[in-house]
Amino acid sequence: MSDTSTNRPLEVACPQCRSKVVWTEANPYRPFCSKRCRLLDLGAWAEESHRIAGEPAMDEADLDAMLARADRDAPES
Ligand SMILES: [Zn+2]
Repeated sequence: MSDTSTNRPLEVACPQCRSKVVWTEANPYRPFCSKRCRLLDLGAWAEESHRIAGEPAMDEADLDAMLARADRDAPES
């Protein structure tokens, strides 16, 4: 019996950009590779809702505002 296999990090594909993501406690955005990919995915979901409601889709400016807000709300310590 060996412990090496349990120490090997789990890798998943980012649902947004399909790049390899190491699944660790250090990555709060897992299974996404980054905050941007996570928000892009949420944005896609929101865009879907907006389309149903007949409202304009979220654009890059909205996403940047969303990212800024997320940065501010994130508990740093
Ligand atoms: Zn990604």
